[in-house]
Amino acid sequence: MKYSKGHILELEVRDLSHEGEGVGRAKDGFVFFVSGALPGERIRAKVVEVGHRHGRAELVSVEKTSSSRQEAPCSIAHLCGGCALQAFDYKAQLKWKKKRLEEALIRIGGLKNPLIRPVVGMTNPFGYRNKAQYPIARGADGKATMGFYRRRSHQVIPAEDCLIQHPLIVEAAEKACSLINELGLSIYDERTGTGFARHFVVRVSVAREEIMAILVTNGHDFPQAKDWVAGLREGLPQLVSVVQNVNQRVGNRIMGSTSRVLWGAETIVEQLGDYSFEISPGSFFQVNTIQTEVLYELVAQYAGLSKGSKVWDVYCGAGTIGLYLSTDAGYIRGVERDQSAVFDARRNAKRNGIDYASFEVGTAEEVLPRWVREGGRADVCVLDPPRKGCDPDALKSAAAAAPERIVYVSCNPATLARDAAILSQEGYTFVEATPVDMFPQTPHVEAVSLFVRKGV
Ligand code: SAH
Repeated sequence: MKYSKGHILELEVRDLSHEGEGVGRAKDGFVFFVSGALPGERIRAKVVEVGHRHGRAELVSVEKTSSSRQEAPCSIAHLCGGCALQAFDYKAQLKWKKKRLEEALIRIGGLKNPLIRPVVGMTNPFGYRNKAQYPIARGADGKATMGFYRRRSHQVIPAEDCLIQHPLIVEAAEKACSLINELGLSIYDERTGTGFARHFVVRVSVAREEIMAILVTNGHDFPQAKDWVAGLREGLPQLVSVVQNVNQRVGNRIMGSTSRVLWGAETIVEQLGDYSFEISPGSFFQVNTIQTEVLYELVAQYAGLSKGSKVWDVYCGAGTIGLYLSTDAGYIRGVERDQSAVFDARRNAKRNGIDYASFEVGTAEEVLPRWVREGGRADVCVLDPPRKGCDPDALKSAAAAAPERIVYVSCNPATLARDAAILSQEGYTFVEATPVDMFPQTPHVEAVSLFVRKGV
């Protein structure tokens, strides 16, 4: 059957895509992705795009409703690209995340019956994010607005008040937006590349209830900087740092490489268990502080360190995992591509009184082979790569360091599964995984997996 735009179809929805859209099947089996539709539902949807293998359709009505459907708590959840799963009740979200991980490990990783523990969810799956990046745009009335991109577009939907952000972030965003208007800052236009204020980035320390406010600007000159600082400080008693970050490049990258502290501290300090960590404006830090502690506890459990163990912390960011494991480790060696995160990692080692940790700037795929050539060995190797997973050279070298255990923290089941297959060839057996819900209301799946050396 040929489908054309505008055509209204009946579809059976059996699953969610990795982006959280309903996967709807027409009578002939042709697949349409429909945002807002849930597994188990029969829907009517209007075709908006038809490709060779699948298409995209817009939800018109739900004919048979899933028992897991709920009213989305946020009124713009259906428009915004952030929370694709809000209409899916939280228990169902967690079950689906486990299933996604399981399917990827079987289908892509070639594992039979992988042991996957239940997903560790949150008691309150809202208000959890410790960092937000709001694009600044001009609203219909000519005034500045801040919000989030509409799904699949760069149109900004005004929404300082986002339910998954920490309440202090929402407060900071509201204050910043009105201040931009009061001071008459010009607003960046991505079509022409002109205008000054591009993004407002906020980080909070959940443990200390402190705020770092970062204005990303298209240019260095900021004559109203003093008033900007004064205005923010007046409205936000929890503020500890005001930063200007300059990004003059066209494109989707939010922050540029130069940051200037306009007032207060250079970093924000977060607490995880017994450790505290300084984080620079641009350094990676897990966005869900409460669940990060759960995640790192699991890493510690899987690492099973004994006094004096040698730990490699690969893709170490600000050194957080390695340092979190430091009580039982005798030696920690980290590698990370981002220089500012490595500075943070070194500073964090000092701050926590750990003198047996060292951190190196470089890519895992370049640095690990060298460590191995130089005779480096590890008892436990922690891998925590970005979404695209590990480079095969990094995995081969991790295996060549002959750790008894490899603990793999993944934010993408597909690349975890691919890498599990490589690790198996390199002599490591998958033992089990525990997903931790770091991103409630969104389709992101995070999991910690344990691999052990064969024959040990
Ligand atoms: N383990 C840290 C950071 C994990 S995020 C934590 O728990 O906070 C992944 C990190 O990998 C980011 O800091 C990113 O800058 C870094 N990274 C990305 N590609 C890399 C590569 N090829 N080699 C080394 N580090 C890389």
